[in-house]
Formats: sequence, C-alpha cells, structure tokens
Amino acid sequence: MKIAIIGCGIAGLAVANFLARDDNTITIFEQFDKQRPVGSGLVIQPVGLRILEKLSASLDALEKGAPGYTMLGIETDHKRKILDVSYGPEGGANFGLGIHRASLFDALLKACARYKIRIVPSHHLTGSHIKNNDRYLTFTNGKTKGPYDLVIDTSGANSIISPLKVRTLPFGALWGTVDWVANTPLKYNRLEQRYRQARNMIGILPIGCLPDGNTRKATLFWSLPAHDYDKWLNTPLETWKKQVLGMWPEIQPFLDQIEKHDDMTMARYSHGTLYKPYSERLVHIGDAAHRASPQLGQGANMALLDAYALSQCLKHYPIDQALKAYVKSRKQHTLLYQSMSWAFTPMYQSNSRVLPFLRDRVFAPISTIPPVQKLLTSLVKGTLIAPHTLTNMR
Ligand SMILES: Cc1cc2nc3c(=O)[nH]c(=O)nc-3n(C[C@H](O)[C@H](O)[C@H](O)COP(=O)(O)OP(=O)(O)OC[C@H]3O[C@@H](n4cnc5c(N)ncnc54)[C@H](O)[C@@H]3O)c2cc1C
Repeated sequence: MKIAIIGCGIAGLAVANFLARDDNTITIFEQFDKQRPVGSGLVIQPVGLRILEKLSASLDALEKGAPGYTMLGIETDHKRKILDVSYGPEGGANFGLGIHRASLFDALLKACARYKIRIVPSHHLTGSHIKNNDRYLTFTNGKTKGPYDLVIDTSGANSIISPLKVRTLPFGALWGTVDWVANTPLKYNRLEQRYRQARNMIGILPIGCLPDGNTRKATLFWSLPAHDYDKWLNTPLETWKKQVLGMWPEIQPFLDQIEKHDDMTMARYSHGTLYKPYSERLVHIGDAAHRASPQLGQGANMALLDAYALSQCLKHYPIDQALKAYVKSRKQHTLLYQSMSWAFTPMYQSNSRVLPFLRDRVFAPISTIPPVQKLLTSLVKGTLIAPHTLTNMR
C-alpha cells in the first residue's frame, strides 16, 4: 500500500517502521524543517518498552535512558507517603525508562533508517480529502499530495484533521531539563515528587543523557494552573524557588540550575477520546486520537501500542476491516487508561481540598495493602489489562 503519515513524532516513526517492514511504501510529512521533539523527559513503561523491542529501538533507548525502579510521592505538610510504586528489584528487568524526548526520537529514527521510509520536512498539513476512493493531502505551501491508499494521522495534540473534541484541564506543568548532581540524597533510579495538597507539586525524573552527550540529566517539573503562567512569568524566580524549597529543600542543587524563566517550558494538558478514530482511508492514532494529562505517564506508551496494533491489523485485513479491527483491539485498554487518568488527575492537580484529603487518608493507606499495591503497579506499568486483543497476530 501507498501510505502517508502525518507527523514525525513517536506514533509516526513507530507506525512507519512497522509498516515499512511489511513492504508498504511510506512517506512521513512533518511540519518542521528539522527534528524538534518538544518537551523534556518522559517515562516509557514496560508495556511501551516491549514495543520498542519489536521496533529494534530498545537498545539505543536503553543506552541513553535511565531505568527507574521506584516512584515515590510525599505530601510535605504531614510527611505522608502517598505514592510508593516499585517495579521490581533494583537492577532487575522490570523498570520504567526515564528518557529525554530527543533520545527517544533518535532511537526511533535510527530504527527507521533500516527501512526505506521517506521523511518530508517543512510540510504543514492543512487538510485531507477523498477523490475516486483515494486520499489526498493539502499543505500550507499550496501543494497537494496523493493519491494514497491510507493516511495515518499522527500529528499529535494539535492535529488539524482529527475531529477529537477535548476538554482543557485547569492545571498544566512547567518542565525543564537540568544536570543530575553529584552527592544528592535523591536516587538516580527513582521518580520522586513532593505535594502540598493537590495545589502544588514538584517532581524530579532522571532521564539519562541527550543523544549526543554523556552527562546525566533530569527533568524538573512544577504543577501550575494554566491561567497562572503569566503571573509566574512576572514573579521573580527567587520567590518561586523559595516556595519550592519550602516543600523540598534537597532539590536545591537542581533548582539552582534554573537561571531564567525561559529555562522552564509550560505544558498545557487536555483530555478527550475519539471513539471512532477513523473514516474513509484515514485513521488517527496517538495524541491525535486520545489525550490525557501525563499523570499516569502513558501517552507515549499508548502511541507506541496504537502503532503496533494498527500495523498488525493492516497486515492481516483489507483496509476497511483493518481499521475496525484496530479500534476493537485497542478499545478496552484505551478507555481504561483514559478513565483512570480522568479520575486520578484531580487528586494530584486541582484546587480541591477534599480529593487530596481522601488521597492521603484513604487511598494511600489502602494502596499499601499487597493486592492493591500490585494492582497499582500494573496500572503504572500499563499492564492492568491486556494492551490489545491481538493474541492471534503476535
Ligand atoms: C509535559 C508532558 C509530559 C509527558 N510525560 C509523559 C510520560 O512520562 N510518559 C508518557 O508515556 N507520555 C508522556 N506524555 C505524553 C506524550 O508525550 C504524548 O502522548 C506523545 O508524545 C504522543 O505522541 P504522538 O506521536 O501522538 O504525538 P507527538 O509526539 O506530539 O508528535 C506529533 C508530530 O506531528 C507533527 N505535526 C503536528 N501538526 C502537524 C501538521 N499540521 N503537519 C505536519 N506535521 C505536524 C509535530 O511537529 C510532531 O512532530 C507527556 C506529555 C507532556 C506534554
């Protein structure tokens, strides 16, 4: 098949790789002239790591990333442990991989270089239409491209052609990349957070090295209501740092590296799910089909899972049937994680007093009971239920 992919991001590169292996002719259109993976670090959960293995991208990702064996969250006012997830014994095979977006992008790009995939930069998609049963694409430079047997929309949160309607979430976060510091009591193999109710949250995620470097890095993030961003920009950095250090003094050497407001980038979050993510010869995957706050750290994993499931269905069925089979195969997992993320986010990011109270006094103690602890770990790993129902196609 002749397939066009919109967006050279996580879902785009992954699906291109899988489909090129099956002898499809693949063209990726990307709006930017050069690779520009936005943001800082993220966690690839075990479920996503399995897909990176299938893509032959896991070795490069592991070389650059930082395996994390635990996640720890502490409510600072009452010194209560409210999040304590262990993937498995340190040094073992079970972990979430903290990685800088640029390193993940690099690993996926290297894996794609083994196949004949055309990447066309500087092409910002503006629309798509059907003519004579084929799909065509239009771009801002006025060009039309096509015909294609199938167009896969992987253009992410700002997709122009996805009908997804989202609800903007009140809280987002500031994200920045800093060097990991020597002699810190913080652990390089742990994602750690401090909370004050659900209003404030500071976290540090070890993410390994940048593609062309050997210096260990970490992502620093600070929860912030989206409408307070301008106020934050107009507040002296020292005022903000004082607030952060009041919650977590040990973070100082990391915080010291933030010298100007521009060192932190504001990410806004939204939530929504496309229940029928396809139409004639067009399918939306990744953030173009479902969006959630990164509270459960699943977005990139979902994008990888979508890419795998779609490619498997296209391998086994004609296009129309394949798109239906794809949606069916991912439906339960997607809906479960979308609803969990919807339910959990306000407990960690909101102005509510009741929800963090319940979180600290009810959910946190319950989550230490072994069967519940196991469920929570599976939830984080992305394996609470089967990520797809393609058992006969593995
Ligand atoms: C702050 C933050 C932290 C996160 N942390 C985690 C985490 O820990 N774990 C996790 O799994 N997920 C995390 N996520 C979510 C994850 O980053 C996304 O779910 C994931 O990147 C989605 O991949 P994608 O390929 O669908 O979209 P993207 O990676 O956004 O790629 C979209 C691509 O399409 C291109 N594009 C867009 N519009 C057009 C157009 N009109 N024409 C041509 N090209 C276009 C873009 O330039 C981009 O290259 C986080 C997200 C944020 C914002």
